[in-house]
Amino acid sequence: MKALQFGRELNIKRIIKLMREEGPLSRVDISERTNIPQPTITRITEELLKENLLKEVGYGTSTGGRRPVLLALNHTCYYSVGVEIGRTKVKIALTDLNGNLLSFRKKVSEKSESISSIIEYIKDVLEAILEETGIERSCILGVGFGLPGPLNENAEGLISPPNFYNETSIPLKALLEDALQFEVIIDNDANVAALAEKWFGKGMGYDHFAYVIADVGIGSGLILNGELYRGRYGESGEIGHSTINLFGERCSCGNYGCLETYASLPKVEENFKRKLKLSPRNESVYLGGKLIEEVTFDDIINALENGSEAAKQTLEETGLYLGVGLSNMINVVAPDMVIIGGKLREGNDVLLHAVKAVIQSRVLGPSAKKIPVVLSEFREGVVLGAAALVINSAFGLFSRS
Ligand SMILES: [Zn+2]
Repeated sequence: MKALQFGRELNIKRIIKLMREEGPLSRVDISERTNIPQPTITRITEELLKENLLKEVGYGTSTGGRRPVLLALNHTCYYSVGVEIGRTKVKIALTDLNGNLLSFRKKVSEKSESISSIIEYIKDVLEAILEETGIERSCILGVGFGLPGPLNENAEGLISPPNFYNETSIPLKALLEDALQFEVIIDNDANVAALAEKWFGKGMGYDHFAYVIADVGIGSGLILNGELYRGRYGESGEIGHSTINLFGERCSCGNYGCLETYASLPKVEENFKRKLKLSPRNESVYLGGKLIEEVTFDDIINALENGSEAAKQTLEETGLYLGVGLSNMINVVAPDMVIIGGKLREGNDVLLHAVKAVIQSRVLGPSAKKIPVVLSEFREGVVLGAAALVINSAFGLFSRS
């Protein structure tokens, strides 16, 4: 795809976008919807059929003459590999162009582990996956990576994510390309998870939306004008460190009263534990014999489902703070939709209801007040998004090259 001329490449990307969103379509339909002249469409679709990117899938309805041949995207002509390198785990996924997971592996990683042993693990797993599935290396578009943000990338491409296997100023892209012998693209976890929504999830068909990953940390990825907005140095989207309370608790970033000090996973668990300790004894029946100190977010959800008032209050308060953070963002960016992902999305309707109520009362514009706020469907949004990063680069209308 690299040797394509610019105009032709743009036309191909427009056709692929249309086919993904509205296919199968006839050549006439494609020409009408893209405003690309029919002879050009005929020529390009012939090439894409030869390349196996498109396939014929039957006949449409006749408008008088012969029934038109319908074309569809062949989502298994190329594949993508996504890798999530988190602080405590590494996940690797092979997907087709529609984001279907064909293979998935993960392992727990230790803080003390060296980055070279993690690269070695990724290399071994990748080789094993290719052998297992029988997919040719030439059919893999590349390998995308989602890392904890901010990447703190410098002009030479060296990155320094915080608390990242004791590494700073590491030429990770070069190291990975050297080890894997594939093109490698790296971005932060919130950005790649936003791309997973754009390509395979609830963001499909939307050109302006905000994705929030609410987990151990809180970050966001913005899709604006159909493109991932990265800010000047790739440091946009740090919603977790927006100030909620000027005089609040000290945050891991050094500031005070950041959103993360209220609505991140450890803080939500802490809040629940505090409520349990203060509550009448009957609340601990919802823990199923577990000690208060060992409670995790899953226990909060279990307790909620069994009728715990403390769990309900905890999720409502979390939704309140998350909603304030989101309202601030909506007032500035005015997206068409907000998608909540990360572990906190499992806080289901209670959390979502609280978030929506705050947005209703705090967002200014009458249409912005009604903005859809939805929960992501992806349990593995980051690794899937890492695969989407590669697909976006190859076929996205506004891809980063
Ligand atoms: Zn902070």
